[in-house]
Amino acid sequence: MAVRMPTTLTAALEALAADPAAQLLAGGTDFMVETNFGHRTPTSVIALDRVAELKAWSHDAADRTVRIGAGITYRTLCEPPLAALLPALAEASRTVGSPQIRNAGTIGGNLGTCSPAGDALPVLSALDATVHLAGPSGERTLPVHEFMVGVKRTALGPGELIAAITVPLLDGWQGYAKVGVRNAMVIAVASACLATDRPSRSVRLALGAVGPTVLRAPEAEAWVADQVDWETGRLLGDPLDVAHRFGTLAAAASRPIDDHRSTAAYRRHAVGVLAARLLRRAFPS
Ligand SMILES: Cc1cc2nc3c(=O)[nH]c(=O)nc-3n(C[C@H](O)[C@H](O)[C@H](O)COP(=O)(O)OP(=O)(O)OC[C@H]3O[C@@H](n4cnc5c(N)ncnc54)[C@H](O)[C@@H]3O)c2cc1C
Repeated sequence: MAVRMPTTLTAALEALAADPAAQLLAGGTDFMVETNFGHRTPTSVIALDRVAELKAWSHDAADRTVRIGAGITYRTLCEPPLAALLPALAEASRTVGSPQIRNAGTIGGNLGTCSPAGDALPVLSALDATVHLAGPSGERTLPVHEFMVGVKRTALGPGELIAAITVPLLDGWQGYAKVGVRNAMVIAVASACLATDRPSRSVRLALGAVGPTVLRAPEAEAWVADQVDWETGRLLGDPLDVAHRFGTLAAAASRPIDDHRSTAAYRRHAVGVLAARLLRRAFPS
């Protein structure tokens, strides 16, 4: 098998243009599992882990955004300074696999696989991240929801790779929660990211593993924004009632299926509980 190891983005794109059938390998934590099970049979590989541009991140304080190279690992996302800038992404990253997986696995690989259970994806959705794709005709940028087309399907075109993700910095509490069949080394059965933004008085809720791709819950978001006293940071009315109603609206926004990990009914219930818990954490009484 031909394996190319470019060290620049330009060289990676040239390698892809020269061999359009080549498969992109980042940390390999999905790629190698699929190869070992025979679900993927690569004949040539472009390894991205030495591409300097993909390993870089930057904080634009004026624009209030963070641009994260696709090759940034969960380990980097878990630690300061990135963890302080993007706390929900750090929280989600800490739930991924084991230390070995977090050392190797990348945010670009999570997007590349595009599983509805990918832990980084609800956070990127709730924060309205954009995905930068580099290709033969330059870079194009898509909202993350246009990038995630369906179950393990993305908007990546021929000759393109994920270069980076830009994540807006919000001003408010944000967090991530996940349910699996055990407490560690587990793929989500249901997950949720809640992010609040005081200046825009908005609450964003993204749901993972309960639909063909990550879903937002617009009805729950709009309803709950009116239940918040934005001056004091507390919920109006009985917090338990508000959280319960919010959870019910979140569950109603889900579109789960029965599969080998769980049932649709449990997933729907669990995602409602996660949403209600996150809301209580965001607005403690
Ligand atoms: C034991 C174990 C536990 C795991 N636990 C979790 C978990 O808890 N939560 C979770 O979300 N995931 C988990 N995973 C899955 C995996 O670790 C993540 O999805 C990870 O983010 C994949 O990143 P990677 O760099 O290893 O990608 P790779 O495996 O190298 O690639 C994954 C896919 O993305 C494509 N790709 C990679 N980089 C790019 C790029 N820059 N541009 C375009 N396409 C690209 C590849 O071609 C491939 O199709 C686990 C995996 C294992 C083996």
